[in-house]
Amino acid sequence: MAPLSNRVAVISDIHGNRHALEAVLEAVAAEQPDELWCLGDLVGYGPQPNECCSAVAARADLCLAGNHDLVVLGSLSIHDFAGDAATAARWTQTVLETGPRDFLAGLESSARRDGIELFHGSARDPVWEYVLSEETAWWTLQATTAPVVLVGHSHVPLAIGLDGEDLAGGLTRDGTVVDLAAGRWLLNPGSVGQPRDGDPRAAYLLLEPGRTASFHRVDYPIERTQTEMRERGLPEALAARLAEGL
Ligand code: ZN
Repeated sequence: MAPLSNRVAVISDIHGNRHALEAVLEAVAAEQPDELWCLGDLVGYGPQPNECCSAVAARADLCLAGNHDLVVLGSLSIHDFAGDAATAARWTQTVLETGPRDFLAGLESSARRDGIELFHGSARDPVWEYVLSEETAWWTLQATTAPVVLVGHSHVPLAIGLDGEDLAGGLTRDGTVVDLAAGRWLLNPGSVGQPRDGDPRAAYLLLEPGRTASFHRVDYPIERTQTEMRERGLPEALAARLAEGL
């Protein structure tokens, strides 16, 4: 039996970038999916954490907690972050309101739904491990049994398939469609609010009950987010990188 009965849009790593999130939610709404899932990191880095939490709380059917969410909540130590990530997390702690805080506090870093396993980071370490190599992808596929495994955290869209002993795939560009029928798959939708694959557009993924995954990118007004970051005194490097998608 196919593991997926619903049409699902998947987003991840929003990082307080409201304009990117709004562009993605508009594109997703046009696709009319049955469900929206979010793989975590709603806050950190970006200028509008409260608005992003509220929008995801209102729209997502499932949401995970990412490492930035947990650091901002104080569930993980801020000393786990260095430099700009710590600076932005401290600022986010000072502005996060009760409603968004309560929403984040109720989230877990892994889940299982509709026959799919979901992690913010990886199956070995749902909070911190980055799946960017074939080796880390292999470990997560070994530690799971679902036909499709979803991860976020790296901000790089990926589709890596395991068919028998053979691992294949990698980075996915806008418009990539992957046939999930053969083997098992590890998928990362990429990042809404801080892409790191050289494409600055906001990312999302669509899963179809017919077992395909399609990767999408949408333009958003990057300069509006950058202006808000500078107004709030967030680190300049975090604003500048949005235009590069790195
Ligand atoms: Zn992130």
